Amino acid sequence: MNTKIITLPGDGIGPEVTREGVRVLEYIAKKFGHQFEFEEHLIGGCAIDATGEPLSNATLDACRAADAVLLGAVGGPQWDDPRAKTRPEVGLLGLRKGLGLFANLRPVKPHPALAHASPLKPEKIAGVDFIVIRELTGGLYFGKPQGRFEESGKTRAVDTMEYSDAEITRIVQLAFRLAEPRRAKVTSVDKANVLASSRLWREIATEIGRAHPQIKLDHLLVDTCAMKLIASPAAFDVIVTENMFGDILTDEAAVLVGSMGLLPSASLGAPFDSAQGVLGVYEPIHGSAPDIAGKSIANPIGTILSAAMLLRYSLNLSREADAIERAVDRAIDEGCRTADIAQPGERVMSTREMADAIIERM
Ligand code: NAD
Repeated sequence: MNTKIITLPGDGIGPEVTREGVRVLEYIAKKFGHQFEFEEHLIGGCAIDATGEPLSNATLDACRAADAVLLGAVGGPQWDDPRAKTRPEVGLLGLRKGLGLFANLRPVKPHPALAHASPLKPEKIAGVDFIVIRELTGGLYFGKPQGRFEESGKTRAVDTMEYSDAEITRIVQLAFRLAEPRRAKVTSVDKANVLASSRLWREIATEIGRAHPQIKLDHLLVDTCAMKLIASPAAFDVIVTENMFGDILTDEAAVLVGSMGLLPSASLGAPFDSAQGVLGVYEPIHGSAPDIAGKSIANPIGTILSAAMLLRYSLNLSREADAIERAVDRAIDEGCRTADIAQPGERVMSTREMADAIIERM
């Protein structure tokens, strides 16, 4: 298999963790007999410094022409000036829009050996294994009108929550497809008691549910879901929700695991076809962590598990993805720890040592 992967290391710890993700993919290519060609491009703050913009057309075109994109993180205090013409995050939004990435997937599966790192009691964390699917290109963040208006001496600010039936259908259908090989349970999250867009969402989710009787569908209001994520997180399998609700719930869900450094994500475009693979951007859920950048102590596991998702969803290489995930589990089981997940007295590994430990176990 001959495959082109664009890497966008970005800022802060982005390059440190992306480097290790690439090494893991190179090892997989050698072990399983694939050809992966990597091409590195700039995104975020480093791209602003080099070219004046956080995402160039050339980078976007390269991503469009590739099979998959592995991203580190963007941002940092040096690009935070509110008077600046542009910001690193504009590059991320441009990438999502430019590639039509409408679905963000975040699996949440705390490792039993790291239960101490979670803010929840170990008995609450036991058995937690769910995936949140967040709609990424619609809803409150993109609806029009949006803005600030001055009228008759008064100031008004407006945002619009808007969804079409087609937007809801494609994301809910994806949730059902992903639930099938899992525990076959979809929780659709909305605010149907207040919002018209949520009532349409619930109506469409119910229709799709009827067409998939083998999958159990339930509906939760977003406020109830926020509570249940803390009270009984093990009850969830696949959660699907709109953009802003997903933005908030995914960060809440991430905390269950204990470190920002552990979790991967995938952002997928259309058409999603589990048999063919789809163009996607894969990145750890953490940011550029300027407080630890350049110290070689960042945890690379979020990026390495993102590389596994890349193999599974964009390249349709499930066996290879499983091999990475099993090696990560084994490394954690056998006591490999970076600083963010170590308990006092445990030996702490560098970013490179953790990646080496995972590669050894593949
Ligand atoms: P952050 O995720 O960068 O860091 C939060 C905390 O988690 C920090 O203490 C950090 O040291 C720690 N951490 C994060 N990743 C880690 C890893 N791999 N290993 C060990 N520890 C890790 O969030 P922040 O500090 O709020 O944001 C820093 C910058 O990143 C900001 O400029 C923000 O805008 C940007 N950001 C970018 C993305 C992205 O690129 N997708 C996401 C979130 C934040």
